Amino acid sequence: MPAPISIFRCANCGSSKVTPYANGKKQKSILLGAIRQTEFDSYECAACGQLLDHCMNEAEKNAIDAMIIQAIDDERTKEYLKKYPNIEVDLAIHTLRK
Ligand SMILES: [Zn+2]
Repeated sequence: MPAPISIFRCANCGSSKVTPYANGKKQKSILLGAIRQTEFDSYECAACGQLLDHCMNEAEKNAIDAMIIQAIDDERTKEYLKKYPNIEVDLAIHTLRK
């Protein structure tokens, strides 16, 4: 199994351990097909502790998810790993970060 891919990533550290809030309430169960990023007003990251009013933009998140799933290890990967220290990388399935 690849590393779990979250719907959101932290815009600060890249972690997928992000809990969205809507109207001040934690949103625990999220239906994948039923959400849009704009429905949430803040995002709490369990990895870095930040509460942000936005999560990582979709283009970057998709690029990072693809990088993890496909174990892409190129210059762009190195940039992402430098920019976002808490991207969860499963060392058992690929060699990123080695
Ligand atoms: Zn974070």
